[in-house]
Amino acid sequence: MTLGTLAACNANGGAAAANQPAAPGSKYIGLQTYTLGGELYNDTANVIKKLAEGGYTGFELAGYNPQARGFRSFGQDAATISAADFKKMCDDAGIKIISSHLTPNNLERGAKYDASTKDTILEYWKTVIEDHKTFGVEAIVQPSLPSISNKEDALNVCEVFNAVGELLGQNGIKFGYHNHSNEFNKVIPGGEAATPYYQRGFRRPGDDTPEPETIEKIFIENTDPSKVFFELDCYWTVMGQQDPLVWLKQYPNRIQYLHVKDFVVIGASGAMNWENIFTQHYANGNKYWFVEIEGTNSGHQVEYALESAKYLLGHDFV
Ligand code: MG
Repeated sequence: MTLGTLAACNANGGAAAANQPAAPGSKYIGLQTYTLGGELYNDTANVIKKLAEGGYTGFELAGYNPQARGFRSFGQDAATISAADFKKMCDDAGIKIISSHLTPNNLERGAKYDASTKDTILEYWKTVIEDHKTFGVEAIVQPSLPSISNKEDALNVCEVFNAVGELLGQNGIKFGYHNHSNEFNKVIPGGEAATPYYQRGFRRPGDDTPEPETIEKIFIENTDPSKVFFELDCYWTVMGQQDPLVWLKQYPNRIQYLHVKDFVVIGASGAMNWENIFTQHYANGNKYWFVEIEGTNSGHQVEYALESAKYLLGHDFV
């Protein structure tokens, strides 16, 4: 990350003044449940209730396991929570399940997404549909980048994503893709490796190799808008030396969800200009976004999520 990127992200802003806090439940506040780590599975129903009391109204799930047909906690002997049981706990607490993160786990490690693996990938997605209908999700989002060395690889991924979007769409579920920082690596046609965002050089005069493009741009511009949307992880976008606002303005119809992620508690670092990001997201006609806090073994994840909700309830740009 450069100071320049953070400055761009912070243009016209900085820490916004807090307003009179809104009452919990009076406005949408979403949480990516990856945030909670193992704490979610320690008295799950009460953890969900506590989050609702703290202001959360929507979830994006992480960790659904199609082999277990539900959620397995991390311990070997831990019980599985079925999709129906988890949905009931959310309903009882007043939390709507909006989305779910999943990545196919039935490919060889490092296998590329292309015509030879497409059917295997689609087989995986078929196994998650029924339980996600039970959850009542609007969307399923893939959060992991397939192996990509060049522009052709990225275009092949787009074809597979279109097929996944078509399959899920036939079942009433939208398909999205979530970035980390590696999507801002650049590729060229026929290249042998993606150029990491932190190693970008200047193009020299007379350099006749094709202009490198970010993987994220190739994905957005080569997937079918009726089949694939994007969830922008604002923090990882900054870590990829990009300004989330630029992407939100450039692709207002394609980026439909956000990950609201800061260094730890949302708003505490002052480094992310949440006022500008939220304002643009809503101006683009979108309503959903999800708090995400990494560091899932801290032992304080529920506490950090509740602190983050306080910040979001206390700012009327949310
Ligand atoms: Mg994220």
